[in-house]
Amino acid sequence: MPVKNRLAEMHGEITKWRRHLHMHPELLYDVEETAGFVVDRLREIGVDDITPGIGKTGVVAVIKGREETKGRVIGLRADMDALPIEEATGLDYASTVSGKMHACGHDGHTSMLLGAAQYLAETRNFDGTVVLIFQPAEEGGAGGLAMCQDGLMDRWGIQEVYGMHNMPGMPVGEFAIRPGALLASSDEFEIVVTGKGGHAAAPHDAVDTTLVASHIVVALQSVVSRTVDPIKRVVLTVGTFETDSAASNVIAHTVRLQGTVRTLDPEYRKIAEERVRRIAEDTASAFGATAKMTWTPGYPVTVNSEAETVFAAEAAEAVSGKVNDSTDPIMPSEDFAYMLEERPGAYIFIGNGDTAMCHHPEYNFDDDAIPAGCSWFAELVERRMPVA
Ligand SMILES: [Zn+2]
Ligand SMILES: [Zn+2]
Repeated sequence: MPVKNRLAEMHGEITKWRRHLHMHPELLYDVEETAGFVVDRLREIGVDDITPGIGKTGVVAVIKGREETKGRVIGLRADMDALPIEEATGLDYASTVSGKMHACGHDGHTSMLLGAAQYLAETRNFDGTVVLIFQPAEEGGAGGLAMCQDGLMDRWGIQEVYGMHNMPGMPVGEFAIRPGALLASSDEFEIVVTGKGGHAAAPHDAVDTTLVASHIVVALQSVVSRTVDPIKRVVLTVGTFETDSAASNVIAHTVRLQGTVRTLDPEYRKIAEERVRRIAEDTASAFGATAKMTWTPGYPVTVNSEAETVFAAEAAEAVSGKVNDSTDPIMPSEDFAYMLEERPGAYIFIGNGDTAMCHHPEYNFDDDAIPAGCSWFAELVERRMPVA
């Protein structure tokens, strides 16, 4: 079965929406124009209810089905924010805002959910209610959490929730999903090591913080290799090493390290935090220095629930016929994870073809993915809430 005819017809219109959003990227919670565009389209489409301002700048809208006999409610989510990247695609609809770019395809996600909304509002061929969720601040601002904290799930009675992300390198029109952990949690740490600065020629009068911090970096490599069950997936990376010495003949007084811990197994978040703290403090102490570790929890593991993953894969199969339902998990993180902590649901990847990777200045969402993406949202609704 191919994509829905009506959505194939609307491809040109939805592509215009997508390119408009692409030209006007906004960051984090500052998505006022984007949210305004979404609200304008939803008004034209004729949905039943629109509530802006959820999770600061998120938008929630409701479409009621032709029937409502079972009290079923499904949430469909798209993200609206862009990235602080200078676009280098050279496209005629490239970003008009210097230093900001839709480099993760959230312009495509938002447009595809709007396209599905238009189809669902026209046809209403389902028994229940669809809640459309347009969230801000996916790129590190936890906009999904902010919407949940504003009562998204209870206030709209959402029973299950679904989301989608494009995937460069996967053919357009294909889908990939898996039950269980799909994307990693992402926590960050900072370690400030303080020793005693001094003259490079008199190390005996100093406590060489660069040496101490180097030992900490090396010892941190044992967190994954010697603490984690080899079957589990955890990665620890130290990303920055900053000393306060700018000269070859000066021993640094302080060094600041920053890193991240990603895992598909939530129990290792706590364990990693304890190990990183202990290694930092005790290694510094052994050298006569001190270390202060600050842990900042980030997005949780994105976990697809079993039954909803099967439904999501079946809808994708119906739309495209090409679904990998046991794709490998990947180690980036995604704040849809917060919604999946509150309700069962599933997150699926849709192919974006042979493009640059997400977050690259030459990345571009492939508009040819639009009919399949819209059709997946719509098919899911009609299959999960069929009219008798
Ligand atoms: Zn991204
Ligand atoms: Zn993204």
